[in-house]
Amino acid sequence: MALALAVPVFGPPAAGKTTLTAALGALPGRAVFRLREHVPETILAATATSAERLGWIDDFTVVTALRGYIEATASASAAHTVLFDNFPGSGAQVRFFLTVLEQHAPGCAVRAVELAADTTTLYRRAFQRRVCHRCERDPIRDPRLPAVPSVEDAQRCARCGGILHPRRGDAPRLLRARLNRYRQTADGIREAFTAAGVPVTQLDGGASADQTAEAMTVLLTRSSQP
Ligand SMILES: [Zn+2]
Repeated sequence: MALALAVPVFGPPAAGKTTLTAALGALPGRAVFRLREHVPETILAATATSAERLGWIDDFTVVTALRGYIEATASASAAHTVLFDNFPGSGAQVRFFLTVLEQHAPGCAVRAVELAADTTTLYRRAFQRRVCHRCERDPIRDPRLPAVPSVEDAQRCARCGGILHPRRGDAPRLLRARLNRYRQTADGIREAFTAAGVPVTQLDGGASADQTAEAMTVLLTRSSQP
C-alpha cells in the first residue's frame, strides 16, 4: 500500500478540523497527522507558556517532525491516505510539506481542504467544546481532542466519567489571538498551494459534523480515482 493521497486540512480554530480528520482517519488505510504528536515535549512546553507564541513551533522542528512521519508512513506502507489536521500552518510550511512529500512519497496526490465557518459559529463552538484530561494524556496537560459529554451529566466524559474542561486555547483572549493569526496566515497558505498547482477546496465547517464528513468523503472518493 503506497501513500497515494495527502489531504491537508486547515481553517480557523473551532471550524471542526480535528473532528473531521478523526472521523475520516479512523477508516482502514487512513491515518491522521497531528504535528504536536511528533514534536518533542520540551519544545511543546516552551510554546505553551507564551501567549504570543500560541503553540507556534519553529520551522526546523516542523520539518524534522514531518519528514520523520512521512518517511515512516511511506516505508511501513501503513496508509494510502493521510489527513493532516490543521497543517500546514503557513505558506512556508506548505512549501516544506510539498517538498517532503515529493522526496519520500513521489506520486502522492495532494488535495488541500480549507474548512471555514462564520465567526459566530466559531465562538459558539469554542465556548461549548470540552476536552478530557483523563482520556487524552497530553504531555503538557493541554488536551485538544473533542470529548463526548455523558448523556446523564453533560459536565462529564461519556467514556471515563471524568470532569470535562474547556480547551486551554479556547479562553476568549487566546481564541481571539488564534483567529487573528489564522486570518493573517490563511492567504499565504492558499497562495502557496495554488502556486504549486494544488487545488484548495473550501468546505463548510458550519454544517453538522456528519454533513461535513459526507462532503469530504465525496471529495476523497473523487480524488482517489485515476
Ligand atoms: Zn474521559
